[in-house]
Parts: sequence; C-alpha cells; structure tokens
Amino acid sequence: VISPGSSVYALPPMRTAERLDRLRARLAEDGVGALLVTTATNVRYLTGFTGSAGSLWVDGVRAVLVTDGRYQDQAPDQVAAAGVDAEVVVTGVDRPSPLPTLSAGVDRVSLEAGSISWGEQRRLAEVLDAEVVPSEGLVEALREVKDEGEVARIAAAAALADDALAAVGPTITAGVTEAEVAIALDHAMRGGGASDRAFETIVAGGPNSALPHARPGRRPLVHGDLVVCDFGAVVDGYRSDMTRSMRVGGTGTGAEADMLAAVLEAQAAGLAAVADGVLAAEVDAACRAVLTDAGLADAFTHGTGHGVGLDIHEGPGLSSSATGSLGSGQVVTVEPGVYVVGLGGVRWEDTVLVTDDGHRLLTGSPKAL
Ligand code: ZN
Ligand code: ZN
Repeated sequence: VISPGSSVYALPPMRTAERLDRLRARLAEDGVGALLVTTATNVRYLTGFTGSAGSLWVDGVRAVLVTDGRYQDQAPDQVAAAGVDAEVVVTGVDRPSPLPTLSAGVDRVSLEAGSISWGEQRRLAEVLDAEVVPSEGLVEALREVKDEGEVARIAAAAALADDALAAVGPTITAGVTEAEVAIALDHAMRGGGASDRAFETIVAGGPNSALPHARPGRRPLVHGDLVVCDFGAVVDGYRSDMTRSMRVGGTGTGAEADMLAAVLEAQAAGLAAVADGVLAAEVDAACRAVLTDAGLADAFTHGTGHGVGLDIHEGPGLSSSATGSLGSGQVVTVEPGVYVVGLGGVRWEDTVLVTDDGHRLLTGSPKAL
C-alpha cells in the first residue's frame, strides 16, 4: 500500500508533451484537418491546463489554447510545465478570438459531438470561418491507454480510498446512518490528500442497497443489513473507484451471506479474465456465468465495468455488448453486483491496470467475508 503522504507529492511525471503528436497521427488517419477540443478533460489531457474555460485548436502544425483573462497566468504556466508545444491566446473585451483567423483556409473543422451543446455548436458555427462537422471520441481513444504517471495518480487515489475505508470501516455498525458513513469516508479521503471525491459517495444499507446508485440517507443501519460502499478519490485530476459490501454485525448465514459470496466469486472470475487482448465482453461473461450458476443472473442488472482516469466513467466499457478488446495500460473496473428488492444488494468493485498477462490491482482494501 502506498503511503498517501508520500504518494501524492512524489508522483512520476506524465508524458503530456507527446499527446498532441499522437492526436495528430489519429487525425491524419481519420482525414480530419482540424479539431477544436472543447471538453475540459480532453483539453487538460493534451495541454496540462486545468482551468474551467478553454478550447484547444489542433491542426497539422499548430496547437492554440484559447482561454480568458482569469487564466492569463495559469494557462501559459501549466502548458510550459507540461512541456507542451502550444500557443496560449487570452481573449477578452478588446482581445478577439483567434478562431476565425485559424479556421480561414480550412475546409472543415471537427467538433467534439459527444460533449458539445446545441447552443455552443451554433455559436462556433458562427465564429469559425469553415464548415463544422461532428467527430466522436478522438481524444477519448488516446486517453484509454494510461502512461506511468497517470497510473501512479490513479494508484495514489486508490490508496487514499483504501486508507479511508480502513479508518471508517470499523464504525459501520448498527445505529450509524448511511450519510454519517459517507461523510466520514469523504472526510478521510480529503484529509489524506485527495483534492476531491471521485463521484458522490454511495453508502447504501438495508433496502437502499438494492438500488445500484442509491444516495446515502438518514436511516440508521440495522443488525443484519447488507451495506454497499462505492467511493473513490481524486489525485491530480485522476480518479479511483472501489466498492466494498458487508453485512452489519458480520456475514452470518442465509440469503444475504450467499449473495456476498456469489458476487465475490463472480468478481474473482472477472478479474481472472482481465488481460491484454481479451475481449471486454469476455470479462463480463465470466462474471455473468458465476451469477447464472448461483441463480442470480436476473439480479445483475448492469455492465461489469468501465475505464477510469480523468473521468470516472470513460472507455473502454466492459459489458455484454462491448465489441473491443482490452489492452495493456488501460485502467478499468470490474464490478459485478446483484440487487434483490426486499433482501438488499451486493457489489464488489476494484480498479485494475490491464497488463500483458493479466492485471494489477490498484484498489487494495480487503474483501474478507
Ligand atoms: Zn464504483
Ligand atoms: Zn465503477
């Protein structure tokens, strides 16, 4: 386990500078002459700029980050620190956008259709001196494979979540509310050095545990309740994702105990299937086969996992309908779950790095029954 005190502040560098050239190679392959990147996490990935307002023009030779006066110092500093070969242009009242000039002489400019709003698309169609056309997932495809620095950040976030559960887990007892547990987990992650939680922490007990995305409420936990805790931390923009399930007062016996064991076995089968070159759908099938044998196939109502990085949900998806195969350097979750109204729910989830011959767990909290 990485000590968060050291991991957060001694992270290896990311290879940000080479990403623009990787993107250009992809644009050339797809016949895209110019791309205007407007998704904040994509701008961050390509330039190192973490501000909330910025768009990045990328063509065959130039990269221009356009932002506003709030970031006139931060943007050039971050781009330079990342070693990225991009100009920074700050716009304002008497500082017009460079986009009309940049787009003059270009036939078509691709926009990121998956994240741009209707209004924004219409505004850009006015500003750009070229036809605008949709593109899908160009930068997201690059982001699927993580470099060493990115993996280290996700691992650091995972370690903070592990430490939080180690501290808070013993307090998950009868009489404590879901909200109290969630707040304690969030507090512990922030106190350990996380810049934020990776998503709204889920602590779902008893009847609530039968809802895959329940929100923590004020109901006190009762002896025998199933409890699902799904949470993660953010370190330097990168997220972790982990779910642990338990039963208040101990696993015991009966249908709840059987569900805890069956889903844990399904997760182990899914993890064992993860490796470079394996179809993503095969990992899903491995989990589903175990739950089918346990008579719980209908209670497993979601896909098996997803990529994790700058976004909590990114490519690749691991579901029965996934068409791609996993590759070394991807970071994905394996998270089968079953949900039975009247009984409760169980989910086990880890964030793992795909390696040539298997996987490396980044989340490390115990999964003892
Ligand atoms: Zn999760
Ligand atoms: Zn997840």
